[in-house]
Amino acid sequence: MRREANPGLTARYTGGRSFDVVVAGSGIVGSACALACAQAGLRVALVEREFAGCGATAAGMGHIVVMDDSEAQFALTRRSQQLWHRLSASLPASAEYETAGTIWVAADEEELAEASRKHAYLEQRGVPSQLLSRSELATLEPNLRKGLAGGLLVSEDAVVYPPVVARHFSRQLKSLGSETIQGRTVTHLGNGEAVLDDGSQLLAPKLVNAMGADAAVCTPGLPVKKRKGHLAITDRYPGFVRHQLVELGYLKSAHSVTTDSVAFNVQPRQTGQILIGSSRQYGKDDPAVNQDILSAMLQRAALYLPDVSSLSVIRVWTGFRAATPDKLPLIGPVPGDPTLWLATGHEGLGITTALATAEILAGAFTGSALSIPPEPFLPTRFQQVRIPQISLDEEML
Ligand SMILES: Cc1cc2nc3c(=O)[nH]c(=O)nc-3n(C[C@H](O)[C@H](O)[C@H](O)COP(=O)(O)OP(=O)(O)OC[C@H]3O[C@@H](n4cnc5c(N)ncnc54)[C@H](O)[C@@H]3O)c2cc1C
Repeated sequence: MRREANPGLTARYTGGRSFDVVVAGSGIVGSACALACAQAGLRVALVEREFAGCGATAAGMGHIVVMDDSEAQFALTRRSQQLWHRLSASLPASAEYETAGTIWVAADEEELAEASRKHAYLEQRGVPSQLLSRSELATLEPNLRKGLAGGLLVSEDAVVYPPVVARHFSRQLKSLGSETIQGRTVTHLGNGEAVLDDGSQLLAPKLVNAMGADAAVCTPGLPVKKRKGHLAITDRYPGFVRHQLVELGYLKSAHSVTTDSVAFNVQPRQTGQILIGSSRQYGKDDPAVNQDILSAMLQRAALYLPDVSSLSVIRVWTGFRAATPDKLPLIGPVPGDPTLWLATGHEGLGITTALATAEILAGAFTGSALSIPPEPFLPTRFQQVRIPQISLDEEML
């Protein structure tokens, strides 16, 4: 009886090339991890099935935002934001990095109370923010509808164009003696080897699964689900909005893990275009634009910015966030396989948190001191994470 050869084992016998680290997936997270490892002196191979930054990284808004859903989330977002600020001077102009600030918009007294709570929380942790009265909000953003209760300005939040940064990171690898392999799919990752779809094999004592929403394909059992999002972009209307504007009600809708939701979340781009978001849907694997969701999203935007209806929307797209049950990413080793590490599950904050994720990962690989505790992000917090098993084929023994 003929038995199908296991691709992992076949590759083992054809002799693969060796690296210190193999990173699978060249989104913003994988590219940042690969670059941080290379900068720490490790020889890295970064493997991408298409091209750098083509996945959720191309679909995202690029809002670099401090969040306070939990202490762990705050630590990761704030540390990463500081790393983005530090990096910004060396980014290409096409990365469109800008510290525009976020205004959390309060529609009523209840949301104003939430703005005050957030203000106190950030103040205690040294993050500058300013409560805005009704009239201050209207002065800063005259196109918002009249009668809103106020808001909170978080001035160090920034905006970036993420796919350019992912490409920039992956290009830098070469000059550090590392390698990028594009147009190849990783078909097996574990036990110190990555097997690619042409049968070639890369060996490394550390492998990183940074495949975003598709991470579970190579690491079965990962508690990562796809969460679909829609975005729309307008023609150029410079000055129509001046800050990233997010409704405080966003915290309620974005955090619902069961239902489809839309929320007012609007961003001015350097080009003068307005990026309009956002939506969240579970259980939708089809990338097609859903007209009902799109209409609901644009109506929500018009509720806050009445004149948005008169702007011309020139493009609409969707993308998939990689969501975990506790809204924190998975960063660390997979139980049972010390060679296999995860850097995925960043949901709607992967652009923001990519740099701190890379810092944790490279720090763990090289033994350098970490700026924030890595424990809340360890995959071991979920029981069902397991390694892909290779059954040994007698023909190979
Ligand atoms: C609508 C929307 C708005 C968002 N807005 C923001 C925001 O404002 N701020 C923010 O911080 N985050 C935002 N996000 C989230 C952010 O975009 C993601 O968290 C982030 O891009 C995840 O990056 P990643 O590198 O993990 O995944 P990806 O960018 O998806 O990269 C994974 C890569 O792995 C590759 N890959 C997959 N399988 C394989 C394989 N078998 N072999 C080789 N390569 C493989 C893919 O081709 C892809 O390039 C948003 C997301 C969406 C959808």
